[in-house]
Amino acid sequence: MSDRELVELYVKLNPIAAAVGAPPPIVERAVKRLQAEDERRARAKQVAQAVGHPEWNNVCRECGCELKGFTSELCSDCGLRWLAR
Ligand SMILES: [Zn+2]
Repeated sequence: MSDRELVELYVKLNPIAAAVGAPPPIVERAVKRLQAEDERRARAKQVAQAVGHPEWNNVCRECGCELKGFTSELCSDCGLRWLAR
């Protein structure tokens, strides 16, 4: 079960508790991971906009090529070069 599925299931099964109380630790950790993921995605999108490609999700910070995912800051080529340094 993904973090998102876990949180959605909790909210569905416990709508009142989800609205007013602190969720159990396992749900709280999943919510924090999802928030961190959203922040990374938003940051990556900002970088893409800053280099003139608002249609991209992310940009390699070394060579400026398009990255499909948002978790990395380097493309595979630049990542390998960085590891070899
Ligand atoms: Zn690169």
